[in-house]
Amino acid sequence: MISQQRSGIALVICAPSGTGKTTLTKRLLEEFPRFAFSVSCTTRPPRANEVHGRDYEFLDRDEFKRRRDADFFAEWAEVHGNYYGTPLESTRDLLSEGRDLLFDIDVQGASQLRRTVPGARLIFILPPSREELERRLRQRGTESEESLARRLSAAVRELAQAHWFNSWIINDDLDTAWQELRALYIAATLSPVRRPGFLNALLGEW
Ligand code: 5GP
Repeated sequence: MISQQRSGIALVICAPSGTGKTTLTKRLLEEFPRFAFSVSCTTRPPRANEVHGRDYEFLDRDEFKRRRDADFFAEWAEVHGNYYGTPLESTRDLLSEGRDLLFDIDVQGASQLRRTVPGARLIFILPPSREELERRLRQRGTESEESLARRLSAAVRELAQAHWFNSWIINDDLDTAWQELRALYIAATLSPVRRPGFLNALLGEW
């Protein structure tokens, strides 16, 4: 009997705010319960509904820097004045146990993860146009003019990095974007790196 051992897939999803990332990642986690969400560390204070250890591990800046200097993180970045980082050891452990991992991290972090987690699949979600992104941000109704301008200029900085990602999803229509994300995930699970040892075992039967 050939071993069914599997390695997990690391799926990294980056997107400017307003492109539908939250909706799409939520759907992925619902449809594929074998996904584990990578719990990051942050120095940002918890929001009202957030739980320590589920949403983030909330740390003070000194503790974050101590861990960063001890190479605790697979990647880390400063986003909107706070530090965020992905623990390296738990990432590697979960992947080697065969758990697929979803990373909702910023572009700077994704570029580090590309090196520290070999085989990570990097997906960028793009808006179909600037006009449409602005329309969606306004539609939320929660943005002041100032915060809208800030998000639009952050978007252009992030989009300028989209060229080195493995895949793009241009979110013009949410259902199409969802089908594309689902297809990308399923395709990633078919990579030979997911089945270490399978081929040798199969050839060993001859
Ligand atoms: P929030 O504070 O709203 O939860 O997240 C703000 C931003 O930080 C999001 O764009 C998210 O992608 C990014 N982020 C969350 N966790 C990490 C992490 O572990 N590493 C990096 N580089 N970015 C993160």
